Amino acid sequence: MKKVIKKVLLIILAVLIAIQAPFIYRRYKIGQLAEKVNELNRARVPAANDQFKEYKGIIHAHTNLGGHSTGSFEELIAAANANDLDFVIMTEHWSDTIDTAGLTLNAVYGKTLFIGGNEIDTADSDRFLMIPGSGDAAGLRKMPTPAVLDKLHSENRLAIVTYPEKFRSWDSNFDGIEVFSLHTNAKKMNPFTGVFDGIWSFPAYPELMLATYFKRPDENLRKFDEIAAKRNISLIAGTDAHSNIGFHLFGDDAGNDLLGLKLDPYERIFRLVRQHVLIEKDKPITRETLIEALRSGRSFIGFDVLGDTTGFRFGPCDADALCVNSPAGSRIALLKDGQKLTEDEGLSLKYGPYGKGVYRVEVYLDQLGPPFDKMPWIISNPIYVR
Ligand SMILES: [Zn+2]
Repeated sequence: MKKVIKKVLLIILAVLIAIQAPFIYRRYKIGQLAEKVNELNRARVPAANDQFKEYKGIIHAHTNLGGHSTGSFEELIAAANANDLDFVIMTEHWSDTIDTAGLTLNAVYGKTLFIGGNEIDTADSDRFLMIPGSGDAAGLRKMPTPAVLDKLHSENRLAIVTYPEKFRSWDSNFDGIEVFSLHTNAKKMNPFTGVFDGIWSFPAYPELMLATYFKRPDENLRKFDEIAAKRNISLIAGTDAHSNIGFHLFGDDAGNDLLGLKLDPYERIFRLVRQHVLIEKDKPITRETLIEALRSGRSFIGFDVLGDTTGFRFGPCDADALCVNSPAGSRIALLKDGQKLTEDEGLSLKYGPYGKGVYRVEVYLDQLGPPFDKMPWIISNPIYVR
């Protein structure tokens, strides 16, 4: 009997060792990816811009103020400064007892401008990022979505759809969609491969390991294009940073983590994806100019973990053409009304003459290998020609 147990244990051990092989290989591949990303950053050629100054920051961050997070203001400020972020848009959960938008970070700390916003619910179970936030955020959950949006717009606040996969009021008059969410993307990670990657690749390449799990948000972009065909809206990426909550993957909502791996301290999370915003050169970055730029779609999503996207440009040029400049050699795809119109490899793309339509750009780094041949490096906002 003892012999049988010993045999079984040996087999289990052998299987456990054999299972590691692909993850050791993945660590090697992620090491190669890191080299390619370094090379890309060294060779960057950001486009000049006479009219606008570019600012980078993150949207959708929580602290322990609204619950669901264990992060502190100090951690968050240090992480934003360490990452040279120009802005962070806070989106604290509403509370019945305190004004979370009023109490959260709402000023310049070091080099970063913080704007206090809220993540709000409506009576229709829709969720929005409300920017800036408001002392009456809690009460909005008793109002239907159209009434909430009317109220927000009368107060000059932005309403961005968050968790679009659960959103229902698609006919309502919101200002934009959080088409990519780090939080949602991470929740879709395969926990089995996640655990072994966590052991083998995470210690050396934490950000890039997480990036290999990124997926193009096909359905959210499809929905975005469908609405953009009818009216002007903006797209953003959300960080949904909680800090210490392990992306819900290795832990739970209460912040207990299973493996002692903290996947999302703010400092790490702030390196993955950023919103890059263009503000007129003669204006400073303030709460008002930043919100206006987001509202009018003068921003793009940059997955900076794969290479700094600063210096990407998309806009009308010459007489009747659209021009794209990519800060690194890449595959530039120009989409019209959600369909690929043309694409080219290199540092720029020019298309014209162009007629009526909704034009936006996705830039890919095929040279990084899968999944980045299908997962964009940059997602622009549209240029609307009605
Ligand atoms: Zn959130």
